[in-house]
Amino acid sequence: MLAGKRALVTGCRRGIGRGIAVKLAEYGADLILNDLTIAESDEVVAAVRNLGRKALCISADIANPDSVAAMFAAIKQECGGLDIMVNNAGITADAMSYKMTIEQWNQVMAVNLTGTFLCCQAASKLMMEQKSGKIINTSSAAAFMGNIGQANYSATKGAVASLTKTLAKELAGKGICVNAVSPGFIQTPMTDKIPAEVKEQMIARIPLRRMGQPEDVANVVVFLASPLADFVTGQTIQINGGSYMV
Ligand code: NAD
Repeated sequence: MLAGKRALVTGCRRGIGRGIAVKLAEYGADLILNDLTIAESDEVVAAVRNLGRKALCISADIANPDSVAAMFAAIKQECGGLDIMVNNAGITADAMSYKMTIEQWNQVMAVNLTGTFLCCQAASKLMMEQKSGKIINTSSAAAFMGNIGQANYSATKGAVASLTKTLAKELAGKGICVNAVSPGFIQTPMTDKIPAEVKEQMIARIPLRRMGQPEDVANVVVFLASPLADFVTGQTIQINGGSYMV
């Protein structure tokens, strides 16, 4: 379904990003694999190549405008363009709002919001040249439900959903669809930090009674990246086992 498509996934060395990269490759896409540092020896690179797809590794900090510019220059030179942009990279720096430092606030803004914006902007310039493309951003259930200790994180993820709507309107006439996925509680290194008893309480509140897996998010990303979703833009799709219903 995605044969010949060139897909960039940020923050894909592990977790949800790794799951998305491998799933896109399963459906035929060639991958540009980004993380803060990503090497030829990384497991995700082998996983993509074992599926018979190309894997170009680009280490870059998405919060740094110069790094993002260099990454997209390399993509243009090596791949000639970009068909699918998945803004997955994200971080947490949790604290109660009344104890949160300005550094914690700024750090999360820089990666989750500014980084997503910079990659959307650069990707859309490449996609406008070819008059087609799919951009998929990553919001979070925390944006819609709120989450204690995550004032910075939930604010960025709400902003990502808003950014997605504006970009969808700006780019619709250029042949580019912009959507977001909003994962709930997904099993990754990010959530591995949560104590087991807290995890059990969280799972008890999920109607489908389990944590999501990276593959649950990846399946929806493949749909949004594919021609099946050609009439879908500006949406944020919830993937949370029913814990938050729009
Ligand atoms: P993770 O921490 O396991 O993986 C994130 C990856 O992003 C890491 O490989 C990290 O090195 C990379 N990264 C961090 N900062 C970067 C930067 N500045 N530039 C490039 N790469 C960077 O996280 P995850 O759980 O896989 O989450 C992936 C995305 O899904 C994030 O945007 C996260 O906010 C979102 N999300 C996760 C959950 C969950 O339950 N795990 C829920 C909702 C949303």
